[in-house]
Amino acid sequence: MSVKITDICIACGACIDECPVEAIVDDDDNPNDDGCYFVHSEKCVECVGHNDEPACASACPTEGCIVWDAVVASQPHRDDISDDKRSAHTPVVE
Ligand code: SF4
Ligand code: SF4
Repeated sequence: MSVKITDICIACGACIDECPVEAIVDDDDNPNDDGCYFVHSEKCVECVGHNDEPACASACPTEGCIVWDAVVASQPHRDDISDDKRSAHTPVVE
């Protein structure tokens, strides 16, 4: 994973156009079909080289909705985010 959208997502759409690598899909295209937006982890670069912090999380109005998840091998990721934060699914914006 990378960052992850959790089930408190209200499908408002604020995040999707903020992603510089088109890693986010809407609820219609969510492979889990759970009514939430979804981050394709194999595409997410955690906004490294694009923004100071994950743009999706900055744009999201739902507090705690977007969380850190495990690093995807070979994908860019933020070295300053601890494994503890990732394994605990800590919100990107706290
Ligand atoms: S962290 Fe950046 S690259 Fe990853 S899904 Fe969010 S906006 Fe896209
Ligand atoms: S901005 Fe947040 S609440 Fe809105 S669709 Fe994206 S993840 Fe869901």
